[in-house]
Amino acid sequence: MLGEFGIIQRYFAEQGPSRGDVRVGIGDDAAVVRVPEGMDLALAVDTLVAGVHFPRDTTPEAIGHKALAVNLSDMAAMGAEPVWATLSLSLPEEDPAFLKGFSRGLLGLAGRFGIALVGGDTVRGPLTITVQISGLVPRDGALLRSGARIGDRIYVSGTLGDAGAGLALALRQTAWDDRRGDALRHRLDRPEPRVGLGILLRGLATAAIDVSDGLRSDLGHILAASGVGARVEVDTLPRSQALRAFLPEQGQLELALGAGDDYELCFTVAAGEEARLMAAAAEAGVAVTCVGEIERDVGLRLVRSDGSPFSTERTGFDHFQQS
Ligand code: ADP
Ligand code: MG
Repeated sequence: MLGEFGIIQRYFAEQGPSRGDVRVGIGDDAAVVRVPEGMDLALAVDTLVAGVHFPRDTTPEAIGHKALAVNLSDMAAMGAEPVWATLSLSLPEEDPAFLKGFSRGLLGLAGRFGIALVGGDTVRGPLTITVQISGLVPRDGALLRSGARIGDRIYVSGTLGDAGAGLALALRQTAWDDRRGDALRHRLDRPEPRVGLGILLRGLATAAIDVSDGLRSDLGHILAASGVGARVEVDTLPRSQALRAFLPEQGQLELALGAGDDYELCFTVAAGEEARLMAAAAEAGVAVTCVGEIERDVGLRLVRSDGSPFSTERTGFDHFQQS
């Protein structure tokens, strides 16, 4: 048994990237970091509870990845560059296999983005992971939910609905004997935070949010904060080949609108800025798709490409019945 200090030392302190702006890291009573002149500090925290925020059969590596990824996604939505993280880990027992995989998943992602793990807390209890992230954004330059204006175009990054389908597979609400199911599960377990895109959207997006609860709900937050409404053309919602193969169109659209965990960005851009946006998306290596427009009348209107209203009569997982 390593004990608390042994665990911290072995799995967390000696791995992961170090940064020159960390004056005091793991090992003292608090971390001390230096915020550069001219930058604002963006702070966010998210907790994952086993069986609530990830299925119990999720691999330790995926849990570590996801615990950090969901926080990085919040930074992306603010246009902030994530730099420092702290980790509060509640573990039922000292489980070396879990700790090895978990730290590899978390610190592997931290390494990719140059984020230093600067502190945390380790306790015995039900499996629960809290990561707190700090990021830097130029003074007054953070992307907010409140800046959408009438006439702005609404965009989403990547594809929507995959994680929701992955969750249905994970919970065995439906069976799908097809390797493409692995790609959907992967989207649930290993969300890719759109950090690079978020930074490139500074000064370009008028409002932004990350899609953690489903597009309908998260776009709704932008609309409420901005005091505007929107029309979304559901046929344009970007969907992966795997999702298209997995279930009929109505179900795809319902997942794309209603399922969470995709961790894509939803953002608005002034109508004349499409060329700049496409250049930014190309630079970030992420596809972005225009799905609608901001309008004066409050509320969200979902329409088909012929202009008729889109209705979601059935809910839940009815649509997983293969057609
Ligand atoms: P204290 O009792 O002063 O809060 P702890 O014994 O909880 O200190 O932690 C000792 C050091 O290890 C601190 O620097 C703390 O930030 C760090 N630490 C504890 N748990 C973790 C963890 N899971 N990951 C990273 N750092 C941790
Ligand atoms: Mg402590």
